[in-house]
Amino acid sequence: MSVPAGTLRKLAAEYGTPLYVYDLDEARAAHAELAGSVPAGSRIYYSLKANPFPPLVGVLLDAGARAEVCSRGELETALAAGAPARRCLYTGPAKTETELAHALARGVRVFSVDSPTDLARLGLCARQAGARAKAILRLNPSAYPRGAGLAMGGAPSQFGADVAWVRDRPERFRADGVELVGYHVYVGTNIDDADRLMDWFELAVDAVRHAQEALRLNVEIVDLGGGFGHPYARPGDRPAWSGLARRLAGLLARLPGAAASPARGGPVVAFESGRYLAGGSGTLVLRVQDVKHSKDTRFVIADGGVNVLGGMQGLRRVPPIMAEPLPLRAAVPAGDGRQDDDGDAVLAGPLCTALDLLNQRARLRGAAPGDLLAVPNVGAYGLTAALVAFLGRDAPAEVAVDTGGVRAALRLETAYRPVQAAPSGVNGSPTGDRATGERAETR
Ligand SMILES: *Cc1c(COP(=O)(O)O)cnc(C)c1O
Repeated sequence: MSVPAGTLRKLAAEYGTPLYVYDLDEARAAHAELAGSVPAGSRIYYSLKANPFPPLVGVLLDAGARAEVCSRGELETALAAGAPARRCLYTGPAKTETELAHALARGVRVFSVDSPTDLARLGLCARQAGARAKAILRLNPSAYPRGAGLAMGGAPSQFGADVAWVRDRPERFRADGVELVGYHVYVGTNIDDADRLMDWFELAVDAVRHAQEALRLNVEIVDLGGGFGHPYARPGDRPAWSGLARRLAGLLARLPGAAASPARGGPVVAFESGRYLAGGSGTLVLRVQDVKHSKDTRFVIADGGVNVLGGMQGLRRVPPIMAEPLPLRAAVPAGDGRQDDDGDAVLAGPLCTALDLLNQRARLRGAAPGDLLAVPNVGAYGLTAALVAFLGRDAPAEVAVDTGGVRAALRLETAYRPVQAAPSGVNGSPTGDRATGERAETR
């Protein structure tokens, strides 16, 4: 936790709790470390999914990252933070005509496509927009490395196209209006050592080689994804990827068209990260509202729970939430009446559901109402991955600090607004068939 406890206490007094505090310098440092851990000249995308907080996106863009977006909202955030549209990568397995048309109108030209239908739909929208779009084809590799846990590929997946499908039906992977210029593989996630990361990258490069044997593209971009891990909601440092750049350089020599730096006409190699770039920058400050015993269990009840953190654990996109907050206490005077309660406590949030737990076994010795708790390493998959609209509590303030103090303080709003019905058929009409001129792809 790079923001000093005294600063967190002061900010909590000024902005109230729950409160997210982001250290922008920490995000810059993470970007520099990642850039130094992959071969020189590699492109790094910041996945806004991890955290779209505008000041954070802004510093990562300034540091040299490009934006990887998968919704209209993320795209607008990236553009407002200064991302040139031509440098954005637009991804996602169910892009609609409406969002493709919007992205093209805003100037996005590079998309990751997940299937022939997706490719054809992009081609149709590009022709309608009078634009020349490029696409990289997301691949689902045919195998996992041994010992892999959660992953988005290698097993049946809604993401990408199976390499076997590409090899069986290569003619399906072209469309008017869009040029396929490379490949995209994103499989492992939250991996914290270089050996395992290399296992995944080898698998990704194999998938690219096998697809390329069938498609024979003019490869401009190979996006190998990422999976760069980071501690979540507990103390700990960013993993160091020692030796990764050198090992990757060896692996990349096996890419189609490689031998080859981009300068000599070889493909640009890209990596993506949300968690590693943003994770360490964020701290969540909570205030203890109550402490009580039920049966033989001590409950510490804070003013923020799964409405502000960890709501996505059910989706297994974040590690199970076992927040290890640090007490932000000024020196505790002796004999202040605190029970010296050494046992573990259940750390609960304020929601009216028994599921609102941040840790079933938190070490919160002597916690008392009014205490502040700081949950470190929640710069990625924090607020926007939480159940922020559940139970109608205000979203917490989010504050960006930098050398020189508070850079920005913002609050996300969720609110009901009236909607106008569109003339029928404008929104949500089934477009897959129209786009491809075919029934859904059967294998
Ligand atoms: C979620 C996602 C990322 C970011 O993953 P992290 O674990 O946050 O680095 C990158 N690329 C794609 C396609 C994703 O879906």
